Amino acid sequence: MNIILLGPPGAGKGTQARILEDKRGMVQLSTGDMLREARTSGTEMGQKVAAIMDAGELVTDEIVIGLIEEKLQAGSDGGFIFDGFPRTLAQADALGALLDSHRANLDAVVEMRVDDDALVARITARSTCGNCGEVYNDITKPIPDDGKCSNCGATQFKRRADDNEESLKTRLMEYYKKTSPLIGYYYHAGDLKPVNGLGEIDEVAGEIDAALG
Ligand code: ADP
Repeated sequence: MNIILLGPPGAGKGTQARILEDKRGMVQLSTGDMLREARTSGTEMGQKVAAIMDAGELVTDEIVIGLIEEKLQAGSDGGFIFDGFPRTLAQADALGALLDSHRANLDAVVEMRVDDDALVARITARSTCGNCGEVYNDITKPIPDDGKCSNCGATQFKRRADDNEESLKTRLMEYYKKTSPLIGYYYHAGDLKPVNGLGEIDEVAGEIDAALG
């Protein structure tokens, strides 16, 4: 099964993608993670996109489509979870064409609905483990008292450079201008499955499970 997790920054796409990987043997393809990796490894492309990402703007369609194309070649028995891609109508068209060329289908687009006040609160409180990427939140899932990651035991945590109020404003504007039209696009394609992204992590996972069948 191939699915898209669609929703604004902070909707919980990455968290739910990890759960789906564990439960269903799917492979998460997060363009955000791929771009951050390119930055850390210092590739030319990584350097080119760094400032754009930190400002909260979208990088070019060409770059992210190229990244996805590469990953699709590897295939996945359990299917793919597209997380943070597509983010524009051109990317959605490109994904359709790529799946066609691999004789694969898009089975569902899970729209994670979260109101804007909650998004800002979630993102400005977010941090991740520097080693395994486990996501923490100062309010809902704080770093354990012993200062060690509950997943891997590491003691270094970091905040994303774009998880500040100024970049977040731009990220949300980019979402409403360029990504939210995909809701109508996939609704009319018959693939859209809205879920309430405001509940506890397990509740949201349960809703997604039910929606996917
Ligand atoms: P968020 O948590 O805001 O949803 P991501 O981790 O998915 O963010 O992406 C971080 C940044 O990487 C985006 O703000 C954007 O600059 C870039 N990016 C990620 N995916 C895409 C994409 N599909 N198209 C364009 N830019 C992207």
